[in-house]
Amino acid sequence: MRRWRRAAGTEPGLREKQRAWHWARKVRDARRAAAPYTNALGRPVCGLCGRGRPVALVERLRVSHTAPGGFARVLLPYCGCC
Ligand SMILES: [Zn+2]
Repeated sequence: MRRWRRAAGTEPGLREKQRAWHWARKVRDARRAAAPYTNALGRPVCGLCGRGRPVALVERLRVSHTAPGGFARVLLPYCGCC
């Protein structure tokens, strides 16, 4: 499969598509890192399901190597349905 993808002329425009997908992923990851818990339009979404509009904040524990006890408290937006 990799050899087939690498072969020039396998599919017209495949290299351009791969390049476009690569940059789309980079933009998506950068947007998520800059504004977590937002959708593609920049509106806030649930931190658990990623779909619903958040109505509350819930507390969760995240593994942390620097926090005492090994866990750190994190507040996530929550939609109340998931
Ligand atoms: Zn949710």
